[in-house]
Amino acid sequence: MARDGPPLVAIVGRPNVGKSSFFNRLLHRRLAIVEAVPGLTRDRLEAACEWRGRTFTLVDTGGLVLGKTQGLTASVRRQTEHAIADAALVLFLVDAKAGLTPQDAEIADVLRRQGRAVLLLANKADDAAAELNAAEFHTLGLGDPMPISATAGRGIGDLLDAVVAALFGAGAPAGAAGREPEAGDSAPVRIAFLGRPNVGKSSLVNALLGQDRVVVDEQPGTTRDAIDTALTYDGRRVVLIDTAGLRRRTRVVESVEYYSTRRTHQALVRADVVVLVIDAREGITDQDQRIARTAYEAGRGIVVAVNKWDLLRGYSVEQVQRVAQRQLRFLAAVRVCPTSAVRREGIGALMEAVFHTAAVRASRIPTGPLNRALTQAAAAAAPAADSRGHRLHVYYATQPESEPPTIVLFVNDPRLMTADYQRYLERRIRDAFDLAGTPIRWTLRGRRPPETARTSE
Ligand code: GDP
Ligand code: GDP
Repeated sequence: MARDGPPLVAIVGRPNVGKSSFFNRLLHRRLAIVEAVPGLTRDRLEAACEWRGRTFTLVDTGGLVLGKTQGLTASVRRQTEHAIADAALVLFLVDAKAGLTPQDAEIADVLRRQGRAVLLLANKADDAAAELNAAEFHTLGLGDPMPISATAGRGIGDLLDAVVAALFGAGAPAGAAGREPEAGDSAPVRIAFLGRPNVGKSSLVNALLGQDRVVVDEQPGTTRDAIDTALTYDGRRVVLIDTAGLRRRTRVVESVEYYSTRRTHQALVRADVVVLVIDAREGITDQDQRIARTAYEAGRGIVVAVNKWDLLRGYSVEQVQRVAQRQLRFLAAVRVCPTSAVRREGIGALMEAVFHTAAVRASRIPTGPLNRALTQAAAAAAPAADSRGHRLHVYYATQPESEPPTIVLFVNDPRLMTADYQRYLERRIRDAFDLAGTPIRWTLRGRRPPETARTSE
């Protein structure tokens, strides 16, 4: 570490994982200026990089070729140790296409023992399918692998954010701890108010628009006829979907069928969160259930507004919430909010529920906590063996996508998963990460056990 100037970031990895390609990708993006520095034993390539106003020096160890006569293990070690000797951060590249190899495990060993700060990069994750393979490198014990593609240029910006965060800490972009919002915080939450005629959708939307904390984006001359309404609520951006009819007091009267089918469907596919408005006196009808189910299957978040609360006598909020949640059991702990549009009550709590649901729907659970939760779930209730004595094994899980959260489970044989056990796992994941009101999608993949699991036995 006896070195002045910008911190050193070393790229390490076994041959052919794409270290040079990665280095070149940064040059290509004009993020770096290369200078060849005569090293002790041979030249190594260094590049001064700048990202978000921070500078660091990237060192490529791609020029260090393994000697044919030397033992593989020894030379891999030497290369790695040499490269990381004075690095503040190590970028450890692995090959997502080739999968985990014993050499990767050896390099990981060295890095762990030296206690270096490491970012694990699963290169050659050229597309979403290849990205899934990145998950197995989690077993290296160096944190969440970040999928990148040096040749396709995927994930490079996120990676550089992570490098800057690791080197410069506070003020730099957030790292992998806790839940990561997928889109930028500035993306508006798109909300559709749906429900049967006369439950109070227009009244609720107008009550919302009348709140002090709402600033409507007025576009002169167009707003009254615009289909959607853009606004900020306590400074957060919101788009209300298909409010053309709802904002006008004198509405075009539409048939029940029209409203409940085509229009509803069009609105919900454009929404992040559907507010299902019901009339407190009537409860949840078959038609409400259908809307909720359609929205859920379309991957939307859901919040229930029990409107006309002022007209309901003799029931507690908790009672009504329990009944609604039971009737909408498939929605999994959906938020149920009492509102009164005419008294302008409950609107704030409703919006908080909407923001919360939008946030969990957009969240990405890091691989570590996700796998810990699944391991605990499997320990608390192991899958039963089938009639032939075969038993499901869950190796690891990852959440490659959000909006809605999509979890990929790598198991020994997907056919051994039962609907009951999957529901059980989903319940545990929901509890662990507070995923109320958002659908969760599951994908099962058959896999051999990961290599490190076998070699470490
Ligand atoms: P190094 O030995 O680690 O420096 O690896 P190279 O950069 O020479 O890459 C080895 C091979 O992997 C080359 O054929 C590259 O074109 C290929 N490669 C590198 N990065 C990627 C990638 O992101 N996607 C794919 N599909 N191939 C890559
Ligand atoms: P929409 O067809 O779902 O848009 O329903 P409207 O907003 O047009 O409301 C239908 C009727 O219910 C109107 O007469 C409203 O005044 C009334 N209404 C709406 N919300 C409430 C509420 O919270 N309490 C009471 N008492 N009446 C309401």
